[in-house]
Amino acid sequence: MKKVTSAAKNFSISVSYPPLESKKGIPFLAQNRQFQWTNTGNVILPVIPAYGATALKKKGYKVYWDDAIAEKISYQHWLKRLIKRHPNIVFIESKTPVIKKHWQIINQIKKELPKTLVVLMGDHVTALPLESFEKSKVDYIITGGDYDFMMLNLVEHLLGKTKLEPGFYYRHKSPKSNPKIISTGKFALKHHNLDTMPIIDRKLTNWKLYGQNNTNFKYKPGAYIMSGRDCWWGKCTFCSWTTTHPAGTFRTFSVAHTIKEIEYLVSLGIKEIFDDSGTLPVGPWLNDLCHQLIKTGLNKKVIIGCNMRFAALNQAQYNLMAKAGFRFVLYGLESSNQKTLDRLDKNTKTKDAKDTLIMAKKAGLEPHITIMIGYPWESYVDTQNTLREARQLFKDSLVDSMQATIVIPYPGTPLFAECNRKNLLLSKNWDDYDMRQPIMKSPLSSETQKRLVRELFYGILTPKFIWRKLISIRKPADIKFLATYAIKYLQKLKDFQNN
Ligand code: SF4
Repeated sequence: MKKVTSAAKNFSISVSYPPLESKKGIPFLAQNRQFQWTNTGNVILPVIPAYGATALKKKGYKVYWDDAIAEKISYQHWLKRLIKRHPNIVFIESKTPVIKKHWQIINQIKKELPKTLVVLMGDHVTALPLESFEKSKVDYIITGGDYDFMMLNLVEHLLGKTKLEPGFYYRHKSPKSNPKIISTGKFALKHHNLDTMPIIDRKLTNWKLYGQNNTNFKYKPGAYIMSGRDCWWGKCTFCSWTTTHPAGTFRTFSVAHTIKEIEYLVSLGIKEIFDDSGTLPVGPWLNDLCHQLIKTGLNKKVIIGCNMRFAALNQAQYNLMAKAGFRFVLYGLESSNQKTLDRLDKNTKTKDAKDTLIMAKKAGLEPHITIMIGYPWESYVDTQNTLREARQLFKDSLVDSMQATIVIPYPGTPLFAECNRKNLLLSKNWDDYDMRQPIMKSPLSSETQKRLVRELFYGILTPKFIWRKLISIRKPADIKFLATYAIKYLQKLKDFQNN
């Protein structure tokens, strides 16, 4: 057994998601590329911070997994618990629409626990690291998306064991009258070998909290993994995770590491796994993974879901995925207008959607599409075109489920930069970036955009679609899934009601 130094034993760490109480709903913050207050109650394990917590625990540190949003406890309850635990350091992940709330929380933590260091991480602070030092008493900012490696590096640095890597910002305390913000330089990801991370300690990170309440799982309990960081394309101009994982930094865990992680989840009784890499690795990696899933018999024990891009795979590859246990495949359709796909740098053609969905369905997979509304350059006619195409895909039985949202330009993305440059932003109050209202000037009013999202949700509920869903029922799990899905679907509509 590895020797744990007393310095490590006496150093305690909290990986915290403080409750963010709001009449708008529950914040869908962690592991989410598009933030939303939601009424669906979905919760997802923040995968990369979970690797960080695991790695720190393995080094002998006392680690508290403190996802109070998933625990659904009150703010006061959480604060009291944090004060009692009195950690040496608190890591908090933030996103644009809740950054102002996090500044207030940080100031309260620093008032109650002045010696506790508070660290912020996430895409918003990667884009605007200095702002949080001005607006709060935060001690450190982690930029870039490898929170796990950076959490470990910071703690080891604080205990005098190593130098700080590039990517940190912190206050230089002397002279006290004029503290400066120091940067260790532009973050770098490529040297982080993912296989050096241990597989996630699911007990430490409270896996049961995340196993049930998620529509990506048909078979429960479910769990999340991420075998790639984050997306091998990584260029879509609206995608907030391209800020933390820019194009050209894509890395994968080895297939052996991923299989080990899946085996561990199966040993816990997990029935379905969603791989939340922005896009699942393809090519020889995917081929090898599928063969390993089949060879080890894991394909008979667990179902797998993933994010995929259109025009990335052929029929034989989809067939292999189905044989290896894949079920749910999520695609970003975004729009059915070529000019929009080009402006978003999706690097796909409108016809790729149908061609891909035909192959996925033929293989027996269950495709899900995501659609966005409110691009500044899309007219009402353009938007109706997307709605019509989406409805047609459902009519043709090529899609099983859908998610529609209003497009939000997050700081750090090329879309935000473009809108800022062209004076297309309606607000720079970060609270407004929560998908309750459009942020970009658009030919469509806020009410029209929300109405169109609702129309899209209602529009696919044709008698044929409902009948198809009913006749697809094979097992009790299918009934339970459909009932839960129907409830969540209606709850989702509440997220897009007009004020
Ligand atoms: S394909 Fe998806 S994950 Fe990849 S950059 Fe585009 S939106 Fe982001």
